[in-house]
Amino acid sequence: MGDLDSGIDPDNVKWFGNAPGRPYEKRDECAMCWSAPLCGGPCFACAELLGRAGSPSPDYCSMVRSEGEAAIWLADVLKDEHPQLLLDLLGVNIEV
Ligand code: SF4
Repeated sequence: MGDLDSGIDPDNVKWFGNAPGRPYEKRDECAMCWSAPLCGGPCFACAELLGRAGSPSPDYCSMVRSEGEAAIWLADVLKDEHPQLLLDLLGVNIEV
């Protein structure tokens, strides 16, 4: 996107933001993914440079979704069985 002698090239930055560096909202797979707000989208390099033409790796997506499901499960269990632990984990301080 630039070099040390001439600095950042705005045209290259614009191209990157619309192509390999585009956010998850602009990737087809991510736009349909429930985990997108947790994930934030794939690694740009992995999605663009490893022969996937911008598609995230299915293995990566499976791992991210599994982590999201585990986090939701844990929050649900703590909410029912140990609500103070959940508040502590989230850093929420409730004064009564
Ligand atoms: S899990 Fe995969 S499809 Fe879902 S937002 Fe992340 S990279 Fe995109």
